[in-house]
Amino acid sequence: MSKHRIGLGIDLHRLGPAKTCRLGGVDIPSDVGPIGHSDGDAVLHAICDACLGAAGMDDLGSLFPDDAAVNAGRNSDDFCKEVHARLQAAGLRVQSLDVVVEAERPKLKAHRQEIREHIADLFDLPVDHVNLKGKTGEGLGEIGRGEAIRATAVALVAST
Ligand SMILES: [Zn+2]
Repeated sequence: MSKHRIGLGIDLHRLGPAKTCRLGGVDIPSDVGPIGHSDGDAVLHAICDACLGAAGMDDLGSLFPDDAAVNAGRNSDDFCKEVHARLQAAGLRVQSLDVVVEAERPKLKAHRQEIREHIADLFDLPVDHVNLKGKTGEGLGEIGRGEAIRATAVALVAST
């Protein structure tokens, strides 16, 4: 049996008026931000789901129910730390992460390196094992109209 397993995570949040938009654990100045029960960090939510998927551990929603008061406004760094700890306890380790963010706003380019470094820190990875790509919705659908932001992540996980 191969030691490697792959997981996929997708997360969509509605965008609304805001002063900042937290993505990948970094607060980006923006006039729109995600509306969500926690901090709405679609990047970290997609990454957590990708890691849990690779580990065969269901998904973020079953670990941290969005109807639980304790998770209201919660910093998604906490979710990543918990996911990282669960994988470690199961003898698994995240090897690499690749993320695509689709949104009209905010623009990620200027913040990409800071976000990669933050995610690398959370999962104890070299920064070049974390990648982040930004795309627009080409004016189409809820992404293109600027109503939503979607993050898609793949995680490679290996047994230690
Ligand atoms: Zn989310």
